[in-house]
Amino acid sequence: YAKQAGKGTFCYYSTDMEAGAARLLDLQRDLRRALANDEFVLHYQPIVAGNHTHHLNAVEALIRWQDPHRGLLMPGVFIAEAERFGLISEIGEWVLDTACRQCAIWREQGMLIPVAVNVSAVQFRSQGLVVLVESIMRRHGLPPHMLTLELTESVAMDDMTHTLMMVTRLRELGVKIAIDDFGTGHSSLAWLRQFMPHELKIDRSFIEDIEDDPSARAIVNAVIQLAHALKIEVVAEGVETIAQRDLLQAQGCESLQGYHFARPFPATELEGYLRSHNPLPAPENGI
Ligand code: C2E
Ligand code: MG
Ligand code: MG
Ligand code: MG
Repeated sequence: YAKQAGKGTFCYYSTDMEAGAARLLDLQRDLRRALANDEFVLHYQPIVAGNHTHHLNAVEALIRWQDPHRGLLMPGVFIAEAERFGLISEIGEWVLDTACRQCAIWREQGMLIPVAVNVSAVQFRSQGLVVLVESIMRRHGLPPHMLTLELTESVAMDDMTHTLMMVTRLRELGVKIAIDDFGTGHSSLAWLRQFMPHELKIDRSFIEDIEDDPSARAIVNAVIQLAHALKIEVVAEGVETIAQRDLLQAQGCESLQGYHFARPFPATELEGYLRSHNPLPAPENGI
């Protein structure tokens, strides 16, 4: 077929592939530069109480890349590549350190805001993660319960023996574990019973449909009840409407996160958010 299609077609195809490969090389080079030049930033999205107070329970740290040429890039366009290029451990370390430093700064200012950090599969597979988390918490003088590590279901399912070992050690450290995007993977109930995370974050795809689709609503309600029976807290992701919020609150979902409450924003905007949404939480030691 290639022969029939002629030289032109082949050339066109090959040029296209080269362009693709070149783009990937560019991205790899740019990601390295971004690390060296400190071009990554964290935005923080409020996670609020699932009751009428909607008090701030925590924030989730979400990475963005302030590329000098392309502007602000979202994680969807570079995290998978960073994993492939073997850069995710370094980026992940930067994320953990930056989020914990920010949490410590807020704490000094009298704002006790626990932070949740996303951990990639590659990071979770490395033995070094526990020591890294421990040293970062110590560096910033943070009590471990101020940090939650978010793992996706597929990461946590990857190698059960390793997962259980890691989770046990992290639990001993005192940091919390959340299962992110819950419902999109294929974890079994037996596995959940062994794993016993502190939190389940129900994936946005279910929340999106709870108003109109009785089966999505049934699944969300069942997950909330199951989690509660296991003493696991539930966070609903991607809450965008009042109706979704009210349905989740009626089910006793502990925490809600989504554009209805706030989009992710830079750390500097947290104080303003708190001022307009709820009074500052009481300082820890009466500072
Ligand atoms: P995630 O951990 O499930 O984070 C939630 C994503 O949903 C965020 O997208 C957030 O901005 C978005 N979101 C929140 N509320 C709503 C809503 O009401 N509606 C809609 N449509 N979207 C909402 P973002 O920031 O683009 O992050 C995408 C994913 O990238 C994250 O999903 C996480 O898996 C990954 N990610 C983000 N930051 C990091 C990081 O520092 N390290 C690693 N390894 N992955 C990260
Ligand atoms: Mg997350
Ligand atoms: Mg999530
Ligand atoms: Mg998600």
